Formats: sequence, C-alpha cells, structure tokens
Amino acid sequence: MSNSVRAVTVRDCSIGGPELVVMAGPCSIESREQIFHAAEVVASTGARFLRGGAFKVRTSPTAFQGLGWDGWKLLREAADAFSLLTVSEILGEEQIEGARRYVDLAQIGSRNMQNIPLLKALGRSRMPVVLKRGFGCTIDEWIHAAEYILHEGNPDVVMCERGIRTFETATRFTLDVAAVPIAKKRLGLPVVVDPSHAAGSREWVESLTLAGIACGGDGLLVETHPDPAKALSDGPQAVELAEFPALMEKCRRVA
Ligand code: PEP
Ligand code: MN
Repeated sequence: MSNSVRAVTVRDCSIGGPELVVMAGPCSIESREQIFHAAEVVASTGARFLRGGAFKVRTSPTAFQGLGWDGWKLLREAADAFSLLTVSEILGEEQIEGARRYVDLAQIGSRNMQNIPLLKALGRSRMPVVLKRGFGCTIDEWIHAAEYILHEGNPDVVMCERGIRTFETATRFTLDVAAVPIAKKRLGLPVVVDPSHAAGSREWVESLTLAGIACGGDGLLVETHPDPAKALSDGPQAVELAEFPALMEKCRRVA
C-alpha cells in the first residue's frame, strides 16, 4: 500500500516505506521520570519516535499548558538515551529555530492546521513536518494546508489523520479512515494515523489503531502514559505504558 508515496526521511527513519513507523509517548512531557520511563518502554517495542508535547494548545486557559523549553530538553535527553527520534508540536514561527535542537519532526496540531503563517514558516524551515488534520476541516482543506508547506520548498510533509468532529459523541472525534488512502493518492505523501485523539478513551484505541493499519496508514501516533489517572492532559485516552507492548505486538501481527 505504501509504495505509491514518496517516503519522507527523518534522520535514519523512512516514513512511507515498508516499515510501519510508530511514534508514541505521553500527550505532555510532565517530568524527567515520566518521559524516561515512556522512552524506555516505547523503544523496547521497536517504535522509532518518542512523542510528547511541551507547548500545549489546551481548550481551557487554566488547563496545564506544558513545560515549554524545559520539556523539550527532557524529551531530547530521553529520546537520545534510547536511540529514538522526537516528534513534538510547534505552536509559532518564533519557536522554529530553537526547536531544531530538540525536535526531529515538527508537529502542526489540529487547531493550527490553517495557521497559514506557521505553515509557510515551516515550509521555509525545511524541517520535516507532520501535519495533523483540523478536526473541522475537509480532506481538501487539509491537502491545501500541506501545499502551503510544499510550495515554500519543503517536500518533507507527513499527513496525520486524527479524527474529525461529527454528530457522534461516543468517541471524542470520528476517525475518518477513508482520508488515509485519499490523502495518499492525492498528495503522494505518507499518512499516519492518530487513534488516541479520535478515540478519546483508551478502550477504543486498539480497534482504531488496527483500522489505521488496515486502511494503509504508514505509521501511528499513539499516546501512552505510565500512570494515565495522574496524567496532566489526555489521561483517559492514554494507553497504560505497561499495556503498550501488547498493543504493538498486535499491530506487528497485522502490519
Ligand atoms: C496532541 O497530539 O497531543 C494534540 C494536541 O493533538 P491534536 O492537535 O490532534 O488535538
Ligand atoms: Mn494529546
């Protein structure tokens, strides 16, 4: 399924080739202990990227906003200790230069998918980018957002389907599985699937993960936390770290 896309290379990792590229970690970097524990378990499963937000876009201004630059330093240290790459959300143009030391793959969040100045700036930066789909945006709009990055001369764009808002409330968002083959065909770029934000509850993460693989996802972006009940963001959808290796086992069997 993957051979019709142009692979995006991040350091030694090719996204869009034969390998199912797993990116996993907590929603937010919370402490040295938390991120190192996550890195150790995530690396043991063959995942390639450690995820973790340091600058968070929260719905409420009183919710945890992330550890900022200190968080990025911890993310880098933990990833390096276990030979992982890093993926983390960049909120603004002013963060890009500084982010290069800490972030290998720059995430554009769902709420920023149509932040045109940020798209253009990341296009000029030539940093590899993972572009999450806006939860209220059509596939067409998502593709145009990617084109803003591409047109600035940056070919290294990975698309991420993370669920859209529909009338359904049983899940947090509705994973639009059709978006995966459609975006791959229309753009010729790799698409990864984020089952966590779509599910909103860890109970549905396994099913949506497997669906993401079945519909041709080139990789996965999954939230996992050592103690989800104590997580400072997105605890209900985080797979417990102790359960994460079993989830990856199932993925490897079907991939
Ligand atoms: C995240 O990855 O933690 C995140 C905030 O995702 P999204 O932008 O898809 O909501
Ligand atoms: Mn999250």
